[in-house]
Parts: sequence; structure tokens; C-alpha cells
Amino acid sequence: MSVLIVGSTALDSIKTPRAEHPRLLGGSASYAAIAASFFAPVRMIGVVGEDFPKKYLQLYRKHGIHLDGLQIKPGKTFHWSGEYEANMNRRRTLKTELGVFETFAPALPAAYRATPFVLLANIAPALQHHVLDQTRRPKFVAADTMDLWLNIALPDLRRLLRRVDLFVLNDSESAQLTREDNVIAALPRLHRLGPRYVIIKLGSHGSILSGPRGLFLCPAYPLPRVADPTGAGDAFVGGLMGYLAAGGGGIEARLRRALIYGSVTASFCCEGPGPSRLTRITRADLERRVKALTQLTRF
Ligand code: AMP
Repeated sequence: MSVLIVGSTALDSIKTPRAEHPRLLGGSASYAAIAASFFAPVRMIGVVGEDFPKKYLQLYRKHGIHLDGLQIKPGKTFHWSGEYEANMNRRRTLKTELGVFETFAPALPAAYRATPFVLLANIAPALQHHVLDQTRRPKFVAADTMDLWLNIALPDLRRLLRRVDLFVLNDSESAQLTREDNVIAALPRLHRLGPRYVIIKLGSHGSILSGPRGLFLCPAYPLPRVADPTGAGDAFVGGLMGYLAAGGGGIEARLRRALIYGSVTASFCCEGPGPSRLTRITRADLERRVKALTQLTRF
């Protein structure tokens, strides 16, 4: 089954303590779509400007990502720049230039409306609603977010949470939303906002799933060196949704394995600037790390 993904499609300029990388392919939808494409057909919704490099469109195509919902508009592509501190867990946004995103009205091609799996990757909650409004009875809807929307679009986000099956956020966003620092104590509060499933991401410490069957602790794949963690959260949820969409059987039966696949996909994302490493791996590379992670955590 296919996954429909809406989110940002961007150019990212990234500074790490070791290097500077101008105008890489970026955006939550880009990372999530590439990650999901290892498992299932992907339909991407987004907007880019006329300055968007052709080589990045080719990269989407190389991954078999369907682009009928990607608008190319006069003007500039959304441009985000950020800087990492020495420990790489801390990041500062230097600049956000909305460009063509300022007037973006996502339009779903008719053939996309009944896509069974829908990923509302990080973007303004109003746009996430707008896409969800155009879908027809999806089987499973996941939403991601960021601190910016908690600060400036909280009512829209709260309304969205009543419409989704899975909400994915990181520990600091969880603390901000629930006013509870302890993630385990925050989980029931997050469920009360609507979603049946909640995943709290803990960066290099993995993630926690909470759902009707209780908790599941998902480890991060241990990496000796992180080149650039940009997009790791998007690759995590993209890999997870791709894996869910690819298989038969119920969501509940596959969800724990889906987190493991998401975690392993995100690990590759961290190993190169932007999505450069992620775009060079194969399904076999992912399977090898899943096996290694299984061995590392079995007791
Ligand atoms: P992550 O590292 O998982 O938080 O995702 C980083 C990606 O988020 C980058 O590729 C950025 O282009 C994208 N991004 C940054 N700010 C925003 C924003 N305000 N809205 C949507 N996407 C954003």
C-alpha cells in the first residue's frame, strides 16, 4: 500500500563543527519520503520554487517518489539554515525563508485521495489539516510537529491531534505541550489530546511508543560518529510509515518492528550531510542493521 506524505520541501544550509554545507536537499517531506521509499510506494505533496535544482528532482525520482502533488511555483524554494553545537544534540535555527511556502495551498491529485497511509510530516498544522480534509477514509494517519507550532499555532495543532492515529514528537516538545518533564508521566496526557498511539523521540537514546498494548522501548542504532543529524526525526517517521504500509496484517502487529525500521533508517541519515548517506543505501543495508540491533537488545 502507498504512503501519502505532506511536509516541507526545502533547501537547507547546515553548519556543523566540522563543515558547512550550503543548499542541500532538505525539508521534512523530502527526508520522510526518501526513508519511506525503501519500503512502499510514496506520493509526496509539497511546493518548490523555480530555483530548485533539477538534480534534487532526479533524486526524488531515483527513489520512485511520485511527484504529481509537488508544485513548482515562480519564486524561491523554502530555505532553512541551522547550526549545530559541538555535541550535535543542540541546534540553532539561523534563518527561515518561507519563499513559495508562504502561499502554499496543498492540492491532492484525485488519484491520491484514497491513499491508505497518510504522514503529516512537520509543517504548519493548518496545512496538515488542509491535506487531511482532502483524503478519503485513510487507514492510518500519523502527524509530526516542531516547537515552532507549539509556540505559534497551538489551537490548530490541538485540533489536529483529535484527527490522527499516531502523534510523534520529541521529549522537549512533549514537556512543552504537557508541562511534564518525565516522558512516562507525559504519555497519558498526550493520549488525552486524542491520538491512540504516541511516540516520544529521545534523540540518540531511542524512542518510546505508547499504545493500547502498553509501552515499547525502541533503541537507537549506536553510531560512533554523527556527521549531521538533520532530518533524522523525519527519516524515523518516514521509515516507520513505509514499513507499516508495506505489510499485510494489522497495525498493532507490525508497529513495534516499524519503530525498529524507522530507527535504523534514521541512523543512516545521521551519517552524512543532509540526506547524502540515506540516498546511497539499499534495503539490504537496512536489514543488516535491524539484525544487528536485534542482537544488541535480546536478552
Ligand atoms: P529534523 O532534523 O528532523 O528536525 O528536520 C529538519 C528539517 O526540517 C530540515 O530539512 C528543514 O528544512 C525542516 N524545517 C526547518 N524548519 C521548518 C519549518 N518551520 N517548517 C517545516 N520544516 C522545517
